Amino acid sequence: MPLVGCECAVCQSVDYRDKRLRSSIHIAVDGRSFVVDTGPDFRQQVLRLRLNRLDAVLFTHQHKDHTAGLDEVRAYNFRSGQDMPIYARSTVLAQLQREFSYIFAEHKYPGVPHVRTTQIVNEPFDVLGVRFTPIEVMHHKLPVFGFRIGDFTYLTDLNYIADAELAKVYGTKILVLDALQRTPHISHFTLDQAVALARRVGADRTYFTHISHKLGLHRDVENELPTTIRLGYDGLQIRL
Ligand SMILES: [Zn+2]
Ligand SMILES: [Zn+2]
Ligand SMILES: [Zn+2]
Repeated sequence: MPLVGCECAVCQSVDYRDKRLRSSIHIAVDGRSFVVDTGPDFRQQVLRLRLNRLDAVLFTHQHKDHTAGLDEVRAYNFRSGQDMPIYARSTVLAQLQREFSYIFAEHKYPGVPHVRTTQIVNEPFDVLGVRFTPIEVMHHKLPVFGFRIGDFTYLTDLNYIADAELAKVYGTKILVLDALQRTPHISHFTLDQAVALARRVGADRTYFTHISHKLGLHRDVENELPTTIRLGYDGLQIRL
């Protein structure tokens, strides 16, 4: 991701793959439409995707780069006339309720988002008939949920995964994995750590996400990686 005010080669790059917005994914499965995390760029991301329907939002964790765009779900309220279902663990829901108190107020100002929250724990759950398996990972000291849906697994914001949780990832065909930068970080995998985990899992294809400007130019970094491991970029579509 470019850093505001930075003049490094990545932040100055004209390659669209170096123009990263905050990490988030859209999942289309069984005729349903889901988003994992609504970061500060959520509005811009769904506009670019021309996403005209959204059935539910799931949250990995409560950091602002994954939640700040929640207000924009109101556009989907207007379209569907329905409350937006939101799935997150209790601590994440509690923080959303504090940080977006106007959304959860008893007497709402007209036009504010309408949401319906569901608390999730580390057990598989269904959203509109689609099975999500949470995978608990650690982001320094903060537990974060990744999600497996069929043979697709999304793990962002982590620097540790326990063997029992990793067992849920094995066999996945597509793995999306956090790889922030080359130098050690307190709460994110480095490139080497992410490559090592990707090799252990052995998915058909692994895509790295949550990439900092410090990782290097997209083109250069991909050249160093095995062909089964690629860097994600904004707008990348993956089919299973
Ligand atoms: Zn930079
Ligand atoms: Zn985070
Ligand atoms: Zn993050």
